[in-house]
Amino acid sequence: MNTVSSNTRVGFIGLGIMGSSMAGHILAAGYPLNVYNRSRDKADALVAKGAVWHATPGEVAAVSDVVITMLGYPHDVEQVYLGDDGLVARSAPGAILIDMTTSSPALAERIAEQAAQKGLQAIDAPVSGGDAGARDAKLAIMVGGSQAAFHAALPVLQKMGTNIVLQGGPGAGQHTKMCNQIVIASTIVGVCEGLAYADKAGLDPDTVLKSIGGGAASGFQLNVMGGRILQNNFAPGFYMEHFIKDLGIALAEAARMQLDMPGLALAKKLYDQLAAEGYGRSGTQALYKYYKK
Ligand code: NAP
Repeated sequence: MNTVSSNTRVGFIGLGIMGSSMAGHILAAGYPLNVYNRSRDKADALVAKGAVWHATPGEVAAVSDVVITMLGYPHDVEQVYLGDDGLVARSAPGAILIDMTTSSPALAERIAEQAAQKGLQAIDAPVSGGDAGARDAKLAIMVGGSQAAFHAALPVLQKMGTNIVLQGGPGAGQHTKMCNQIVIASTIVGVCEGLAYADKAGLDPDTVLKSIGGGAASGFQLNVMGGRILQNNFAPGFYMEHFIKDLGIALAEAARMQLDMPGLALAKKLYDQLAAEGYGRSGTQALYKYYKK
């Protein structure tokens, strides 16, 4: 397996809300950076700073020692990793592949297996911390994979996050991320209900947030997302449609494990309803719209 050093060639595929900031930190740390994204224009700012554009995921793989992906959905991950011109087919033996997309645990296991057959190391490393965590390089990174691959990838991961934990073998990072999303699902329902209640009770929601945002209810969903709700800011830091994808994966895994999760199911139902009304590309805080109808 490759050892990561400052001249390690890093590839980054998926330059959206999260990936553009994360790739920026890799470039700023001095690694030679190869990039690809489905929409070319999202690479422009990085290319202007010295990143090199490639026309396909395979071309990135062919010239990189480490490849990081931050895509949208499991089907994107499957295509980029396991497609004919994908990362597994085109990476040189010894390369390290790091998928930071929130994706399916079973797919992460399949990728790790196929990568191993080609002499590659693949880890799943989804993140938490939102657009702000990506911008500030303060993401929590939950890793699934071998000890050896984890330690090899660590110097690069440390450029994007501060809380980086190996959770177990392939797929364990994605399972941990599902725990994270399950907690957030019921929390954001509570945040929206608390703020809707404050409004109906004739309180000033900003003043309410000053009190409860510093008490036992405080946290990212209340303080950051609640703050955005009160500013009428429903722009996406995290797309509602991506959260629905995560809740679907978590519910499927829970069903497979015969675990009943009514809080998770309720959140999914409310979000599905809002997405059907056209809010899928809003931020997750737009759940508040449900209570303002
Ligand atoms: P995003 O803005 O949609 O970024 C995804 C990027 O991947 C897009 O730029 C997209 O291209 C690109 N992409 C998708 N499929 C591709 C393919 N086959 N080949 C090349 N590029 C492809 O989403 P995001 O908010 O950055 O989130 C990325 C992932 O992280 C998602 O799985 C999300 O659930 C997860 N996540 C997000 C947050 C958050 O707060 N935003 C936090 C934690 C985890 P286009 O530009 O053409 O769409």
